[in-house]
Amino acid sequence: MRVTVFSSQTYDKEFFIAHIRAISADIDFDFQEAKLTDQTAILAKDADAILVFVNDHLDRSVIDQLISFGIKHVALRCAGYNNVDVEYAKEQGMSVSRVPAYSPQAVAEHTIALMMSLNRKLHKAYNRVKESNFDLNGLLGFTLHHKKVGVIGTGKIGQSVVNILQGFGCDILCYDIEESEQIKQTNAQYTSLESLVTQSDIITLHCPLTPETEHLINDERIEKMKEGVMIINTSRGKLIDTKAVIKGIKSKKIGYLGLDVYEQEEDLFFKNRSSEIIDDDVFQRLLTFPNVLITGHQGFFTQEALEEIAETSINNLLNFNKDERNESCFLC
Ligand code: NAD
Repeated sequence: MRVTVFSSQTYDKEFFIAHIRAISADIDFDFQEAKLTDQTAILAKDADAILVFVNDHLDRSVIDQLISFGIKHVALRCAGYNNVDVEYAKEQGMSVSRVPAYSPQAVAEHTIALMMSLNRKLHKAYNRVKESNFDLNGLLGFTLHHKKVGVIGTGKIGQSVVNILQGFGCDILCYDIEESEQIKQTNAQYTSLESLVTQSDIITLHCPLTPETEHLINDERIEKMKEGVMIINTSRGKLIDTKAVIKGIKSKKIGYLGLDVYEQEEDLFFKNRSSEIIDDDVFQRLLTFPNVLITGHQGFFTQEALEEIAETSINNLLNFNKDERNESCFLC
């Protein structure tokens, strides 16, 4: 089976090859650094299937090209699938698989890392101490114990975040369109989205990007938030209207912003751009604030998660080949 891998990095190659060798599977991977677009789809012309990541776009025209090459399967090596027109793929007889859960704890732990670093200003303290500056002025944090944390989306990652925060003694408010029985057995309380937004000291986003959740954090909701609120997004960039958030930071309504994802990350993240002029004024503005901490979509990036991603993606490809589709991984 020949599989073209788009947006591949050295670590993808390392983990996929290691797993292929471990199970002696007969898959011939063609690792391409290029992101999948209308222009790069041609790289898959000799493949039987493709393996893609979060910023590879499979709209109608890309799907049409892939179908014309005879490709019948798209394996996503991630959980979210907002970048794929799944309905259209299905109509065209193309199947799509994903990795529904690869160490949700990894993303949850990164969420907490952003929260803690912003609160205790570790990003500033690190630089100060490196320069023998031990002045504490400007590093004042708050005690997390008994702070109200609002968790939006209580699926696998949201639940793991709730579990960790309960260890800190936080009061947790949750919102989800489908309430979880596991959450109900804890001290966390479900409430409406608007009440969560109004009451929380920290708001953390763990729902998928859908037409309903796009710009869930917008001008109107920011207006209702507590003065000095902390917002954390490790889910998908478009959950936040970045321009609205910048306004909120300038007016001091938002006291802290932690992002692992960004609305326009597609043309930015996963590459070393340190010698380039970044042509995104909104992102550059975000970087100027002392109370904003951004990481480049690394929430998933642990040894354990990469092993699980390789294992499940390869299983999905082998299952497609055997015409065995398990519901948890196959979207169509
Ligand atoms: P999940 O499917 O287990 O949970 C998502 C939850 O969101 C579900 O409980 C669902 O009911 C809820 N939801 C759906 N629509 C909603 C809405 N309109 N309002 C409120 N809640 C809603 O997914 P998960 O594994 O917990 O992942 C959550 C998100 O994290 C993914 O969609 C993905 O975008 C993101 N993610 C990021 C990284 C990273 O590296 N930063 C890695 C993996 C996943």
